[in-house]
Amino acid sequence: DMMDQSTFATFDGAAGHDGILTDPTGQMIIKPTTKAEADFYAITFAEHSEFAECIPEFQGTLSLGLTPEAEAAAANSELIETAKLQRQQNIRGTALKTDVAVALENIEYGFQRPNTIDIKLGSKLYAEGTEWRKAERLDRVAESTTSGSLNFRIAGMKVWTTNERVEYDKQYGRKFDVTNVKDGFATFFNSVMATLECEEAAKLLKMIEAGIRKIRYVLQQCESRMYSASLLIVYEGDPQTLQSLVAPELEKPKTMEERPKVVDRRLSLSDDSDDDIPAPVTMRVKMIDFAHAEWTPGRGSDENVIRGLRNVEKQLEGLIETVRSPK
Ligand code: ADP
Ligand code: MN
Repeated sequence: DMMDQSTFATFDGAAGHDGILTDPTGQMIIKPTTKAEADFYAITFAEHSEFAECIPEFQGTLSLGLTPEAEAAAANSELIETAKLQRQQNIRGTALKTDVAVALENIEYGFQRPNTIDIKLGSKLYAEGTEWRKAERLDRVAESTTSGSLNFRIAGMKVWTTNERVEYDKQYGRKFDVTNVKDGFATFFNSVMATLECEEAAKLLKMIEAGIRKIRYVLQQCESRMYSASLLIVYEGDPQTLQSLVAPELEKPKTMEERPKVVDRRLSLSDDSDDDIPAPVTMRVKMIDFAHAEWTPGRGSDENVIRGLRNVEKQLEGLIETVRSPK
């Protein structure tokens, strides 16, 4: 049944609109969006391979003019292949209807308990040509939050406690200023500090900071303008899994997403099931939300976003110092 909703589940984002779906394996999300965002993904994966590595893998555009649910249900057929083919043949020529969705890699895939923070980047949050009432409203939000002062604000978080997932909505991050926004990061990374020894915790925070810095270095080489895009940070919120992932990494340097030597117990239960069980992941850092993003050759790098990334790195540095300083 193409309309069978049980195959696609609602995906709860850390921030933003409702309406995102995930496929039965959890590897993919379907985000209903604008043609502008679909175009940005298609162009980025065709022409900007370094930045493509900083964002979720793009698996295609769905443009059926159906409800998002129906589009999602159709997504596991050959439609994605068709979209890819059309993209290869003529990136800008594909006639997209009003109901557009993008199929993206699910950044939370592979985590037992993903702890996720959405950090909205920039102090200017709208593109040229935005209707003035909306522009004024977004300027007011920026002025009264860390968007204005630090070029980022916490837009939302999902954090696991022992038994439940706590959600922090967009109002949560709006109350911080430059002096106390570190408390938001401390809340987000609370289980890192609670679960890991201080050197292990510092190591994980450094890995995340390095992931952000890598994105910043890429953007410094790009000519783009991204308004209201976000930095998405996910780390493993299951204490035991996190320990087994981070502790062995202290012994020798490894790449950020490399599978640890300690094999997850479930992986050894059955050889057949290896394909179904994702390799455990410690953390991922990506940029998302490109509804108001474009490539702008000749206009230089996007300082509005780069400044925000740099300031998030500084928050991580501050947290690392706190973790290391004796209580
Ligand atoms: P909106 O335009 O509604 O703000 P976003 O692209 O920011 O849409 O997505 C909303 C939320 O969905 C994000 O805060 C994030 O938690 C989640 N999300 C979006 N894209 C992905 C992805 N590729 N993988 C995992 N989560 C995602
Ligand atoms: Mn968003």
